[in-house]
Amino acid sequence: MYDVVVVGLGAMGSAAVAEIAARGRKVLGIEARHPAHKLGSSHGDSRIIRLGYHEDPAYVPLLRRAYGNWRRLERRLGADILTKTGVLQIGHPDGRLVGGMLKSCAEYGLAHEILERAAMEDRFPGFVLESGEVAVLDPNGGYIRPETAIWGNLRLAMEDGAELHIGEKVTAIEPGANSVTIRSPSASYRARKVVVATGSWIAELVPRVAGRAVPIRQVVAWYRPSDDFAAQPQRMPCLLRDEGDRGSYFGFPQIGVDGVKIGKHTHFHEPIDPDRETPPVNDVDTAMLDSFAARRMPSVATVRVRAVTCRYTMLPGEDFLIDSLPGEPSVVVCSACSGHGFKFTSVIGEILADLSLDGGTDLPIARFSFNAHLELEETA
Ligand SMILES: Cc1cc2nc3c(=O)[nH]c(=O)nc-3n(C[C@H](O)[C@H](O)[C@H](O)COP(=O)(O)OP(=O)(O)OC[C@H]3O[C@@H](n4cnc5c(N)ncnc54)[C@H](O)[C@@H]3O)c2cc1C
Repeated sequence: MYDVVVVGLGAMGSAAVAEIAARGRKVLGIEARHPAHKLGSSHGDSRIIRLGYHEDPAYVPLLRRAYGNWRRLERRLGADILTKTGVLQIGHPDGRLVGGMLKSCAEYGLAHEILERAAMEDRFPGFVLESGEVAVLDPNGGYIRPETAIWGNLRLAMEDGAELHIGEKVTAIEPGANSVTIRSPSASYRARKVVVATGSWIAELVPRVAGRAVPIRQVVAWYRPSDDFAAQPQRMPCLLRDEGDRGSYFGFPQIGVDGVKIGKHTHFHEPIDPDRETPPVNDVDTAMLDSFAARRMPSVATVRVRAVTCRYTMLPGEDFLIDSLPGEPSVVVCSACSGHGFKFTSVIGEILADLSLDGGTDLPIARFSFNAHLELEETA
């Protein structure tokens, strides 16, 4: 009998299993493929973290906690995971990104700097600003190394006594009166609680979210800069750019050998079947990213060298779902993507440990409940 079985060892599951093991409890983590594999949502070298959250000021307390937890993880691992470069959010002052970020900054008194066009050209020559646009610099922003975080969490989990089964797919979860049974083709396990953190495959084990948690295809590309100097992380912040009706884009400085990384949030919003290979990168994908690079970052994103696919799992309102299954308290469900979940991984591990071991948490997660999602649907 395990205290908890965690199904899926991507970003969220690896953090959960590490936190539960750190609390000295008996935990088993099961992963169908291998952690941070290329069909999941957590590979690709970098993820943005930022404190001035344009999506909603309500995320800020969780972000503050997440920052502290990332630093704690770095200390335990002796590894660099979070690098502060600053994050620039560019757009019209009353647009979703800039307006939303300023709202969070005002509500929580967060450090930020507003840069007009001339100041931007001077300080961050890698970015083009249109007249009427501004850039807001979040000095606390930066990037996280996802693979280091996931593998680091799993290493610590094992050191703290967790059992990990890699390459074993869970096929059924059967809640009983005082325990829950977790089955795979080769074994079955009993636990007091199960945490289901299976990313784009969430609906397979939690049919209740089918049609609500929608996996979509995502594409990112890396570019060599012509101005190597301006593309270094010491000089170039991460980027979010509001393109109005054309959506928003994100970018990273030159972190590894492949150069500057660019993607469009939700890409073409193409739903995919999680069980099939994600359709490969095609010319339409790269044409859209190349065009953005040429228009907005011509000197730092010059020659495309590589492009890969990834997956978002979108929920209504682009929010997360982290809650016990209604009527089945032994099953804790975590679908924390909607294209912006990674930065929260370090606090979500704590939340999942609280929910599975204590049945509740003091952290502010009411907006991630099944009820909140059902209400959202009713008002839509
Ligand atoms: C291109 C891209 C860019 C992003 N950029 C950012 C960003 O800048 N900042 C940010 O904060 N977030 C970002 N995100 C979002 C973030 O990466 C996701 O929120 C996060 O990675 C989701 O992690 P997960 O654990 O839910 O899913 P995954 O990491 O996919 O993990 C799920 C795991 O469950 C396993 N699994 C599935 N079914 C089973 C089963 N039946 N049995 C056992 N195991 C199973 C899978 O094999 C997989 O390993 C981005 C996402 C993408 C794709």
